[in-house]
Amino acid sequence: MKVLYTIKDIKEELAKVRSENKTVGLVPTMGALHKGHISLVAKAKTQCDVVVVSVFVNPIQFNNQHDLETYPRTLDEDVEKLRNADCDIVFAPTVEEMYPTQPTEKYSFGILEAVMEGIRRPGHFSGVAVVVRRLFDIVEPNKAFFGEKDFQQLAIIKNLVQQLNYGIEIVPCPIIRADDGLALSSRNTRLSSENRAKAPKIHATLARAAEELMRTMSVADVKKWVMDVFAEDPAFEPEYFEIVEDLTLQPVADWNAANGIVGCIAVWMDDVRLIDIIRFK
Ligand code: AMP
Repeated sequence: MKVLYTIKDIKEELAKVRSENKTVGLVPTMGALHKGHISLVAKAKTQCDVVVVSVFVNPIQFNNQHDLETYPRTLDEDVEKLRNADCDIVFAPTVEEMYPTQPTEKYSFGILEAVMEGIRRPGHFSGVAVVVRRLFDIVEPNKAFFGEKDFQQLAIIKNLVQQLNYGIEIVPCPIIRADDGLALSSRNTRLSSENRAKAPKIHATLARAAEELMRTMSVADVKKWVMDVFAEDPAFEPEYFEIVEDLTLQPVADWNAANGIVGCIAVWMDDVRLIDIIRFK
């Protein structure tokens, strides 16, 4: 496995790969890798000859300075995990390498960003798009792998590829959870032990809504029930819970309004913001 830090080095390496007619898969990450990330690498390995994992904490997608400063950075451990996962190339640029000058380009995603994360984290998805486009231009992958945990991000990236008319296939990957149901996230390491013990309630609540309550309750009542569960527990501060159509991300009024419906939640536990999703149908 090669660990490369500069755009020049990775482009040279990938030129060799492409001259051998090998396909390239890209897994963009911000590091602090866990089994969720590794599952993306494993999927990429089954579909591409050469797998590139980028590790880059992208400052321009953080709209909260505290979150950026406390974001875990564990490159040595990440490299070890990627070696064990049979990754081929790690790309770990510095901020100066990715952004020699402050990026000025902006991306818009219409209705896809007029909901959920888009309205609560201004500039976030434009910042994601800037870095993902640069990674696409550097790596020129055949396929890129993204987790369904960041459900809105996945829709945004698919839209970005259409906007740019790039021929990159975006491959969605299912959420990997801890044994107690908590969706794995790099931010979980910042939870206090008390909050970590209570955090599985997020998935448990959403699972009950999807497996049981949707049979007897309206969309509006399920939404209210979920928000109330967290509002009534002092360990949690719910930010939103939306029940949306899976392609357009627009809220649905009833369970028959769309073929695919997912619930997306963001909750705070002290200063840690956790997101999760559940599929209703
Ligand atoms: P991040 O490092 O948080 O930017 O995540 C990098 C990629 O890993 C994104 O495509 C995420 O959606 C994906 N990812 C993060 N956590 C999980 C998880 N628990 N299961 C599956 N994919 C995940």
